Amino acid sequence: MRVLVVDDELGIREGCRRALTSSGLEVDVAENGPDGLHKLRQGSFDVLLVDAMMPGMSGLEMMQQARKIAPDVIGIIITGYATIELAVQAIREGAHDFIAKPFTHELLLHVINREIDRQRLHREARRVKDLEEKLSGLAKCRAEMEKIGVIQGRFMMTMVHTLRAPVAVLLNTIQLIRKGYVPPAEQVTFLQQVEERAGELLTILDDLLLLSRLKENIRGLKTEPVSLSDMLEAALASFKKEIAERGLTVKVERMNHPVISGNREYLQALWAQLLGNAIRYTRPAGRVTLTLQENALEKKIIGTVTDTGIGIPSDEISRIFEEFYRTKEARSMQETGTGLGLCIVQQIVSLYGGTLEIDSTPGLGSAFRFILPHTAALTGAD
Ligand code: ADP
Repeated sequence: MRVLVVDDELGIREGCRRALTSSGLEVDVAENGPDGLHKLRQGSFDVLLVDAMMPGMSGLEMMQQARKIAPDVIGIIITGYATIELAVQAIREGAHDFIAKPFTHELLLHVINREIDRQRLHREARRVKDLEEKLSGLAKCRAEMEKIGVIQGRFMMTMVHTLRAPVAVLLNTIQLIRKGYVPPAEQVTFLQQVEERAGELLTILDDLLLLSRLKENIRGLKTEPVSLSDMLEAALASFKKEIAERGLTVKVERMNHPVISGNREYLQALWAQLLGNAIRYTRPAGRVTLTLQENALEKKIIGTVTDTGIGIPSDEISRIFEEFYRTKEARSMQETGTGLGLCIVQQIVSLYGGTLEIDSTPGLGSAFRFILPHTAALTGAD
């Protein structure tokens, strides 16, 4: 422990030096405020003992300046007379305690040791508080991780459940044929069912793969100038058969042909997922309209997919973006679906810094609108 004694009286300086040195403390002295501050700047001290009344710079003034140089130093004022006002002022100027002259060596040591102990306790309390804060931060982290674990577990469960159903049907049908329970004339129908289920399985796996790639925001993803109009056309072509089979009318309105820097697969998937939903959730003879326009003034590209389908109840709208969520009516329609399509759409739209809007009225239809910034560039991908 290092103590700096600042007093204009040689007797006090040397008396303090003797008393403190004999108790194992390291002592340095200064005979006025400026000298004391100089020494404080030069070396590190744990305790500063200052006479309140010194010619030139007063002890209180020095204490105030010393605080700025060494904020943690224990400051003790030596006073010629002890009054409450002086004590209050000394504490206000940054002193921890004061001691009145004349004082014995024992009293000096007692005051210094008491302040050292107090400071130690104060530091301990601060350390405990810091630790408590860190612990509570860790507890919060842990709770978050547990929550993520629960979500991941739930995701896995739903995924396995979703995958299990078509696999079970496949297995059953194959076994029935192999064991000779299906007459040759009916085998074609059974094999058609196998084909359908295998196709469903592949769709689920493809959606899962696409979603996990989007979530990981894979670096090194191929980015090139992509025409959103071409992607719309490609998506439309992939549903040509289904549109005809369901007797749907599909209309396309293109005001212009915006090109953005992006990934072809993702941008085609954006249209395909929205179009696929519009087709599946619109009853025969319904209408689906696709529009694409670039608003050069507002630097926006707007794509919409509107249908005259079943619509979505308002209390379910916020849930349709959850993984695997399907509305009650969609499930009852016997339409196949993974409940992943809109998650994929949302991921793609946010990858390009865009937004997704939805308008829907049960029984009348829905409109999904994506708005991409004109200068859409892939975030997080090279
Ligand atoms: P799914 O594979 O079930 O279509 P999505 O994530 O694409 O999964 O959609 C989630 C749910 O949102 C659907 O199951 C359906 O209930 C509802 N939905 C999506 N698009 C439409 C639409 N165009 N019309 C009515 N309901 C829709």
